[in-house]
Amino acid sequence: MSTYKTEGIIIKRENFGEASLMMGAYTKEYGKIRAVARSARKKKGKLKGHLELFLDTEMMLIHGRNIDTIAGSITAENFSQIRSNLKLSSAAYLMIELADKFITEGYRDERIFWLLKKTLGFLDGLAVPIAETGHCFVSMATAVLLFQIHLLNLTGFSPELNRCVVCGKTIKPRKNYFSVLKGGIVGEECFNKERNMRLISVEMIKLLRLFQLGKNNFDVRAYQNKINHDFQIIKKLRVDKEVVEKCAFLMNEFIEFSIEEKVRGIEFFREMSIIKEE
Ligand SMILES: [Zn+2]
Repeated sequence: MSTYKTEGIIIKRENFGEASLMMGAYTKEYGKIRAVARSARKKKGKLKGHLELFLDTEMMLIHGRNIDTIAGSITAENFSQIRSNLKLSSAAYLMIELADKFITEGYRDERIFWLLKKTLGFLDGLAVPIAETGHCFVSMATAVLLFQIHLLNLTGFSPELNRCVVCGKTIKPRKNYFSVLKGGIVGEECFNKERNMRLISVEMIKLLRLFQLGKNNFDVRAYQNKINHDFQIIKKLRVDKEVVEKCAFLMNEFIEFSIEEKVRGIEFFREMSIIKEE
């Protein structure tokens, strides 16, 4: 019986059989995996509480002919602040749903693990400022936007934000459009009403470009520096709520178009984030 250990973020959890769970995780060493947690729903199961959604966990797995089995799981990071806040939870649910839908099983890129872990860590740290000030919407929504743009970049769907996707000319700071169909910005000279394009402002382009990955973010170390740097930017960022919302709308449309599937978490996150704090 061969076993292996890995750290991973739980991205999916479904009932399986009488008392078991079918789990999905994005792991540091093996990328996206699927595994069964046998008897995990029994009251006294040793895995109880260690296989919750968006947990960061150290897992011990047993190789199986058809599917691997989770033999042990110890929580590395619970992100308890996110769990006690509905808005932050809805952001976390959206992220794991995207990770699940965007990435095929067995796809391995350690940077995606860090993207999940660091974004969850950032959201967890927002709970206190939210409780104290009642408004951290911009930081939270911008963190989700960062997550979406990084995920698009890391999976080969990065939107084109520098050149017109129709004619290839450099985008100028004037009236521009975003084409979901073509996956990028279209200059005014190529605007065509029939093709479902959305107006995109200079502020929106600037915000989206902040999180775009460059050619030098390829290795894991360089990527970690980039994401740490991006979260530092978010902390200091002064941007209108409306600009963030419009960017999120565009990216959501682009994501659903790219994977040809509805993402339930988008609507849930939108509903949760417009509820006013008491
Ligand atoms: Zn053009």
